[in-house]
Amino acid sequence: MQVETILKKDLLGSDTLTPEELLVLMKCTDEKELQKIYEAAYAVKKKYVDAVSYYRGLIEFSNICIKNCKYCGIRRDNDKAERFMMERDDILQMAAWAYENGYGSVTLQSGERTDETFIAYVEELLRDIKSLSHGELGITLCVGEQEEAIYHRFKKAGADRYLLRIETTNRELYEKIHPADENHSFDTRVRCIGYLKNAGLQVGTGVMIGLPNQTEEDLVNDILFFKKNDIDMIGMGPYVVHHDTPLGQYAIENHLDTPEEQKRRVRLGVLMVALTRLYLKDVNIAATTALQALDPLGREKALRAGANILMPVLTVAEHRAKYLLYDNKPTLKDEPQDAKDNLAKRVESIGDRVGWFTQGNSKHFDKRNKK
Ligand code: SAH
Ligand code: SF4
Repeated sequence: MQVETILKKDLLGSDTLTPEELLVLMKCTDEKELQKIYEAAYAVKKKYVDAVSYYRGLIEFSNICIKNCKYCGIRRDNDKAERFMMERDDILQMAAWAYENGYGSVTLQSGERTDETFIAYVEELLRDIKSLSHGELGITLCVGEQEEAIYHRFKKAGADRYLLRIETTNRELYEKIHPADENHSFDTRVRCIGYLKNAGLQVGTGVMIGLPNQTEEDLVNDILFFKKNDIDMIGMGPYVVHHDTPLGQYAIENHLDTPEEQKRRVRLGVLMVALTRLYLKDVNIAATTALQALDPLGREKALRAGANILMPVLTVAEHRAKYLLYDNKPTLKDEPQDAKDNLAKRVESIGDRVGWFTQGNSKHFDKRNKK
């Protein structure tokens, strides 16, 4: 089976790719063929969700975390991470800035906590952000695994969407990159994704790409999982080493973080965007900062390969440098205004326009709700 033959299918219309075809495309390394895959995915994006990029201003409001994921720089046991919790007023100021500057949505992200003080704090933030934007700003929440009732509370307080990555759908690999305790269970994670749907939120998930020992087959299975679970939005990006983590150390010691390896992870990252677009068609897909961490043009490449969401960081400079999930986090010095102008230029350079002052909700979600 060849890439060219596969792309002759009517992917803009009713044809779909088979898992075998997805695997052939996922293994493609030929630059010309890759470009053809990206073009096909961009055409699907244009037809199903428009050539428009929507912004979600990212507010990383705390790096305090009860979890110990082996890849993450703010894991509980990393005592080199200086912990912070942002003041409520600072967060609201950032949200107001996003609103006034025409960002249709914000994303509130933090380490995981399940205590009532934290939950109530988030609830209040959601209410305040909704009210300062007269109900207009869309809000995505990304604060980890919670009880089902908590997701309902978040929805009621104003959350529109929720991002909880499955990280990898290969259970064995999942168990390798998380500690072996009941606080890091693959089954719980899958269950939580179901809870999000029950709570009426737009459901986002995603994976890390190019993890040590992850195969192309795994990545194809990830895309099949998105489809099977009727996911509305996808946030995924390459795995990026953080040197003060167990997985980061493993990658460094086993020479899995060479420039060639990083290039491979970027290629797979962009391919995942393209193949997810070709397979799911009408979902929202983010061009993530992790891509940019490994390739200065990573986000543009993803937009050109079918992504339609950008998440410019709004976190104030003082805290931004402490919210380090991985090494080489880009935009550490960017001020929000510069980032805004800069990104708009990048979006226009690939032929998209920015969806100013619109939430840009997942079309898949809208359809799912009309059924
Ligand atoms: N605590 C929340 C939200 C913050 S982490 C949660 O875990 O859901 C958000 C995402 O960052 C995670 O889902 C993970 O996929 C990603 N991440 C963490 N460490 C990373 C790394 N080293 N490289 C790439 N992505 C990473
Ligand atoms: Fe905590 Fe999320 Fe990092 Fe895991 S990935 S350690 S839950 S912040």
